[in-house]
Amino acid sequence: MKRCDKCGTSWEQFYKTSMLGCENCYRVFRAELEPVIRKMQGKTRHTGKVPKVGDLDRELLCEYKNLLADKESAMLEGRFEEASELDEEIRQLQYELSRRGLR
Ligand SMILES: [Zn+2]
Repeated sequence: MKRCDKCGTSWEQFYKTSMLGCENCYRVFRAELEPVIRKMQGKTRHTGKVPKVGDLDRELLCEYKNLLADKESAMLEGRFEEASELDEEIRQLQYELSRRGLR
């Protein structure tokens, strides 16, 4: 199985948790990452229509999608530090969204 030669994270581990062990992972798994990211983008497009959400909810969802898109391009462009900072923001938003029953 393919593993990062620096931190030992396997593709399977990454796929389950969406967390990479180190910045070398992005390089090692780049070929695998791209189709997954494309799939994620497809999904966010299809779930775009959320019925009856308030303005703040809509704003949060919009922000969440923007952050995901930013993280995706940061990953693909090799801006690893930025990607992990965005990861942190995304996690906080996910928490807020699930608290509101939006996820
Ligand atoms: Zn690694």
